[in-house]
Amino acid sequence: MATNIFDCPLPNKEGYFGEYGGAFIPPELQTIMDEISTAYDEIRKDPDFIEELTDLYQHYVGRPSPVFHAKHLSAKYGAEIYFKREDLNHTGAHKINHCLGEALLAKKMGKKKLIAETGAGQHGVALATAAALVGLECEIHMGEVDIAKEYPNVVRMHILGAKVVPATHGRKTLKEAVDSAFGAYLADPVTQFFAIGSVVGPHPFPKMVRDFQSIVGVEAKEQFMQMTGKLPDNLVACVGGGSNALGLFTAFMNDENVAMHGVEPAGRGLDIPGEHAATMTLGTPGVMHGFKSYMLQDDKGEPGEVYSVASGLDYPSVGPQHAYLKDIGRVNYASINDKEAIDAFFELSREEGIIPAVESAHAVAYALKLAKKPNMGTILINLSGRGDKDIDFVVENYGKEYGIS
Ligand SMILES: *Cc1c(COP(=O)(O)O)cnc(C)c1O
Repeated sequence: MATNIFDCPLPNKEGYFGEYGGAFIPPELQTIMDEISTAYDEIRKDPDFIEELTDLYQHYVGRPSPVFHAKHLSAKYGAEIYFKREDLNHTGAHKINHCLGEALLAKKMGKKKLIAETGAGQHGVALATAAALVGLECEIHMGEVDIAKEYPNVVRMHILGAKVVPATHGRKTLKEAVDSAFGAYLADPVTQFFAIGSVVGPHPFPKMVRDFQSIVGVEAKEQFMQMTGKLPDNLVACVGGGSNALGLFTAFMNDENVAMHGVEPAGRGLDIPGEHAATMTLGTPGVMHGFKSYMLQDDKGEPGEVYSVASGLDYPSVGPQHAYLKDIGRVNYASINDKEAIDAFFELSREEGIIPAVESAHAVAYALKLAKKPNMGTILINLSGRGDKDIDFVVENYGKEYGIS
């Protein structure tokens, strides 16, 4: 690895980024989290572990992913636009970076099974892939509604040897899948490892997942310097939980002249409660899923309803480090609605021949807005995933507007 990816001053020992983060969990679970924290602190300094992970990144994931200069979009919008191509990774997105790290850690700790929830199935597929490779059992909890909606990912998980457990209560989507997976995990937290899918959850997960993802920025920095002789002026990434964004941002955190932009989903509109997931723009500090951060909450303090055309972004909270970065003003958080994201989905496809994930299309849409402003210099976008998973949905719902009947 170019530099040590496991080298970042935050969070503190208790897992706090300023006032955010921490671990709001029952005492019996705290013991387990402490064990994971200790094990992680050991392996992150272990040259054998770093070598094993680096080797898998290179020969299994296909790292380093390229940086691509998008000349057509650059000419059209007036700023120089570049993409970090995480869409080209094995399994098609950035998630494999942290799933491999978590799977290796679980294996080293002597765990037998990886357990997690999934919404659209992207985290489930990446984790089932890592489990198959590392040699662990895998159990993925998924809402019954999502199982029907995202069936190809369910089939993928089955083929990879994972068990898919339907969550059948409530609205039968992501929140219920979290409850279901958490219940199953609590039944045996000793032999199972709860592999969280983003920079969220109780300490040490926000730190661990960020560290595993930070390879993205470490590579991009070196590649961008080689291509242009300078650092990028702007970084742009979409923010659901926030892992791909921190993956790109971390290596540039101390480069004061590099502006950073995190892009949230405005869904059908910021003015309609329940129809967006703009946590940073409209949320307030609170605690859910074991950590403190900005969150969208109802009048009872329960997680609010959220929506986005991109199911990977519709989470009512956000990683605690993002909350901190917002408060200190290091990162600018903005939002992009469904329509703007779908426009960008087609624009990138037709201008550069790259079909992005609809999640990533939010970052693209915002970057194009930035590019139209004068003197924006260079813009490096994290293309977190590819759009294969989205094509049927997009064509069915928006095809006509773009000349596809
Ligand atoms: C899951 C997903 C995201 C959102 O997750 P973050 O933790 O915010 O990065 C973004 N893009 C793609 C392609 C995803 O699969």
